[in-house]
Amino acid sequence: MHPDIQPILDKALAGERLSSDDCTALLESPDFVRIGLAADEIRQRQNDPSIVTYIIDRNINYTNVCNVVCTFCAFYRRPGAPDTYVRSFEEICDGKWDHLPEQAFMYVGGIEEAAEQAAAMAKA
Ligand code: SF4
Repeated sequence: MHPDIQPILDKALAGERLSSDDCTALLESPDFVRIGLAADEIRQRQNDPSIVTYIIDRNINYTNVCNVVCTFCAFYRRPGAPDTYVRSFEEICDGKWDHLPEQAFMYVGGIEEAAEQAAAMAKA
């Protein structure tokens, strides 16, 4: 059972600073629609409502191998599954993204292999 987040949203809408416990409750809440509506209301108060800005970003998945097994995730594959992949550092950084208009790149992927890759890169 998740706590009622409305008092936290009311606090944010009133311009009060949220505590770390408030933020944790929002992160753990499945009620992302109410959170989004409150965020949009604050955005519209603080900015010209007729202007919405955004960035173009790209997620680069270095691996789908993961041991964490988040319940919402349809992306991961357990180690040893037949449809796993791991992209090397060289493969990710070979310049094939350079021509793209993206303003941000996010490297996301499985946890177990990420730790192994980070260790391998630290040794290189
Ligand atoms: S890939 Fe990410 S979201 Fe999916 S199970 Fe692993 S840690 Fe969770």
